[in-house]
Amino acid sequence: MAPEVGSARGAQRMAAVSEGAATCPRCGAQIAQDRGYVAWCRRCDWNVDPLPPRALPTRKADRVAARVDADAERALALAAGARDHSTRDRVVEMFPVLIALGVHLVSLVVVLAGLYLVLVPGGVLAILFGVLLVSAAVLLRPHLGRISKRDVTVTRATAPELFGLLDEIALAASARPVQLVVLNGDFNAAYGSVGLRRRRVVWIGVPLWLVLAPDERLALLSHEIAHQVNGDARRGLLVGTSIESLASWYQAFKWTHDAEGGLGPVDYLSWLLSLPLAKAIQLTLRLQLRLTARSHRRAEFAADDLAAEIASTGAVLALLDVSLLSTPCLRALQHDSRHGDGALWDLLVTWRGGLPGGEWERLRRADRLRGASVDASHPPTAHRVDALRALSDRSGKLVLGADRSRRIDVAEILPASRMVERRLRDWLESDRVVV
Ligand SMILES: [Zn+2]
Ligand SMILES: [Zn+2]
Repeated sequence: MAPEVGSARGAQRMAAVSEGAATCPRCGAQIAQDRGYVAWCRRCDWNVDPLPPRALPTRKADRVAARVDADAERALALAAGARDHSTRDRVVEMFPVLIALGVHLVSLVVVLAGLYLVLVPGGVLAILFGVLLVSAAVLLRPHLGRISKRDVTVTRATAPELFGLLDEIALAASARPVQLVVLNGDFNAAYGSVGLRRRRVVWIGVPLWLVLAPDERLALLSHEIAHQVNGDARRGLLVGTSIESLASWYQAFKWTHDAEGGLGPVDYLSWLLSLPLAKAIQLTLRLQLRLTARSHRRAEFAADDLAAEIASTGAVLALLDVSLLSTPCLRALQHDSRHGDGALWDLLVTWRGGLPGGEWERLRRADRLRGASVDASHPPTAHRVDALRALSDRSGKLVLGADRSRRIDVAEILPASRMVERRLRDWLESDRVVV
């Protein structure tokens, strides 16, 4: 996931606000202000979230937001064990599988029809059409993801300490061992399997990794590895690849939508033919995403739950707290890359250490107020915190000591991440980016 980028106006407003008022304009309470941070009122929450909403509210957006909220509530209730998995839930979960089978059947029929036309004698035209069908099926196959040469990777050979830790976590989670770690400049981490051989990969955003305490690092890696075993339909081979297929079909057929001006008769005919097809693909894709949304969100709760079992409830809660720091952290890094000496990695630890308690509290409250945003595929952090608190407090199966954590940094992550730092600095310094 790319770092979140706010608007220039929002940043200016935050700066302006942080220099003013000592009493709250709404309730008159005293505002204790941390220099350089947003001024806000702890009593009435005035200015707790000074960033403007991303889009103007519309009725449709309201409906979507209400649905997302209702779904999140149900997933939360399930995660907290308050509600059983009903027959209705199970029926709803069958549909994505049926749609996926349909999608893959279409691919298969196209390939077989193409091969039939090529192999069974029927004239040059038939062969040409057959070749066309087979190449279309190959070009529009689902993307299984790949690791590119540009990616900064660490392996079992170059990072034995980190992989030793990943192995212990995989064992505790009853998951299979991770095969590759990719380092990037995100304030995030991820898990996935890539390529035909489905190599198991963990992506670690170095900025996030460096601000985490050892137990939070353990919680992060446990959460990511838990994605292997948390039953997320979207990550399954059958349903996951059907979503990829639908997405690439839609990309292939929708171009004619856009080219409305200056159509010749042939263009016009193909536009007319592909329009309903593109619409049908788009609707199926939306339906598939909608049907898997709940399983996807519940899987996030399940991953938190398993991470708590491995790294302790407290460590996962602390990690969720740090996840609120994404934008402030990138803002601090950008400031330093433009005005400081640009040693980004050194700055991170000092920055987290110096963050005032009032700012943490504001970020927590702002996150709770925003709740489920329309574009969130993950449950709001506040819901994840509630789900964990509703379960019993766990003390964790594994421990990551400070020494081992430091050894992973010094010998394995930091030497490998110089290129990541350079690319992140270039990105932050470019004029397009206002964090
Ligand atoms: Zn107030
Ligand atoms: Zn996750």
